Amino acid sequence: MSLPDMHSSEAIPEAARVEIDRLLNSGDLFRYTAASEAPVSLLESEFAALLGAKFALAVSSCSAALFLSLKALDLPTDAPVLIPGFTFAAVPSAVLHANCRPILCEVDNTYRIDLQDFAAKLPGVQAVIISHMRGHTSDMDAIMQMCDAANVPMIEDAAHSLGTTWNGHKIGTLGRMGCFSFQSYKMINAGEGGIMISDDADLIARAIIMSGAYEHNWKKHAVLQDAFAVHQNRLPLYNLRMSNLSAAVIRPQLQHLDQRVADGRRNHDLVAKRLEESPHMQVPSPLPGEIRAPDSIQFNLTGLNDDQVTHFVAKAADAGVKVQVFGASADNARAFWNWQFIPDLPELPQTRAMLMRACDVRLPTHLPTNTLKAVADVLLNAAASVTLPEQV
Ligand SMILES: *Cc1c(COP(=O)(O)O)cnc(C)c1O
Repeated sequence: MSLPDMHSSEAIPEAARVEIDRLLNSGDLFRYTAASEAPVSLLESEFAALLGAKFALAVSSCSAALFLSLKALDLPTDAPVLIPGFTFAAVPSAVLHANCRPILCEVDNTYRIDLQDFAAKLPGVQAVIISHMRGHTSDMDAIMQMCDAANVPMIEDAAHSLGTTWNGHKIGTLGRMGCFSFQSYKMINAGEGGIMISDDADLIARAIIMSGAYEHNWKKHAVLQDAFAVHQNRLPLYNLRMSNLSAAVIRPQLQHLDQRVADGRRNHDLVAKRLEESPHMQVPSPLPGEIRAPDSIQFNLTGLNDDQVTHFVAKAADAGVKVQVFGASADNARAFWNWQFIPDLPELPQTRAMLMRACDVRLPTHLPTNTLKAVADVLLNAAASVTLPEQV
């Protein structure tokens, strides 16, 4: 069968069209024009309620949310911030943008933070960002315990983890701030957009002002009145606001989240189970306590040399499945050695070894079962073909 474009998206719910028409007719696109109930404000209260957080701030991207989280913590210039060595380039970029210094921690071959390296690098850092990369959750109990003991604030980069839970807690609610993305390849698609949540009124108040709530616009964040006055005119304005149009695209998708999460997990587990048939593909299991919300699958190629890995990718591509080996292309934004904008970029041998064999395949949550089976078959055939004995 011919396979669909795995970067295709689902249609945006019809309700968005009606709301966008209303906004276009009124021209009311700026979040702070309406006296109350602007779509961005409604999104913030709905998202906070969905996650069980006290406060939410919608912004232009998850990267903006991470940047504002660091700024809200009021860290001194050059403050070291510990981040995983396996994440998206936007994460060390946000650290640099906030005038801080990224410290990279090793990640293991299950895509999780290496707790020994984390413990060794934690002393002296002034903040931690935990990227739940591709939705893979590290041992958050251990990480929170270490951060609490060291009195270091932890920010969650939950860009790709909306709907994931850890021991019954929603991912994104564990840190001082949790940051999410609405970019097109995430669970909720607005093209661009992000949101941050927190239970800390002062942190969110600072972030709100810096996101661009100039003059008295902060008064439209009704839940927070008292936290703001002390910051009036004392914080820079970075103007990273969300437009009402984005909120109109996002809000009707929130009610589909549970279904997408359930579909995504079923799809992932179906493909994962089939891949187990190959001795050369290994899908890391979730940790006990982790309930995933995947819209892609990651697996490690084992027992293959570099040439065989290249052939595997080519065979799969010929059959219509795009496999990305994180470390194999010259410009992958998730391979730490490509973050050459970081001064004194360190070497992380364990993370590098993982990236050279770890594969990434998108599995949009709306794919039907026969397509998923066909994707798994393509991968199985590609793995089998590169390991056939040489013809003589
Ligand atoms: C997508 C992603 C980001 C960046 O999100 P944007 O909204 O595009 O800025 C950051 N971290 C992770 C883990 C991501 O998957």
